[in-house]
Amino acid sequence: MTGRITLTMIKPGAVANEHIGPILHKINEAGFHIAAMKFFSLTKIMAYSFYKVHEQKPWFNELMEFMISGPVVVAILEKDNAVADYRKLMGTTNPKEAEDGTIRKLFGNSVGSNAVHGSDSDENAKIECDFFFAMSERYYLLEETGV
Ligand code: ADP
Ligand code: MG
Repeated sequence: MTGRITLTMIKPGAVANEHIGPILHKINEAGFHIAAMKFFSLTKIMAYSFYKVHEQKPWFNELMEFMISGPVVVAILEKDNAVADYRKLMGTTNPKEAEDGTIRKLFGNSVGSNAVHGSDSDENAKIECDFFFAMSERYYLLEETGV
């Protein structure tokens, strides 16, 4: 079923600042089911591949250094309208401009260290979830979500 999954990543800065618990709490409170989850360090190749769309940006090297600076938590979130609802809960890219109560406002330091990633379309959500998780690692609420 389209539109019911998104991928989030709690980035190294938020993990280092002990924000895993509070961020997962906000996610559950907003009605998302955590369908899959991993805690590990990205390799350079994984970080590069995940953010390849930004490789020409002047801040790409900074982003790469940050993303491999420590472990991350990666999760598949399940809910109707998951991508848009999670982008809303997450807040804008720059935490200083993010709305009050959003994850990036509460737990982000700067545009480069903005606490979490969230997929930007259903198509990319599928690509990103497939990048990190096999079907056998997913525990969907609704069976049809995985079809
Ligand atoms: P979003 O994460 O909101 O979808 P983008 O896809 O545009 O934002 O950017 C991907 C990530 O690259 C951002 O979350 C942020 O960590 C980093 N980034 C974006 N813009 C900048 C910038 N101007 N300087 C440093 N890092 C940036
Ligand atoms: Mg993006």
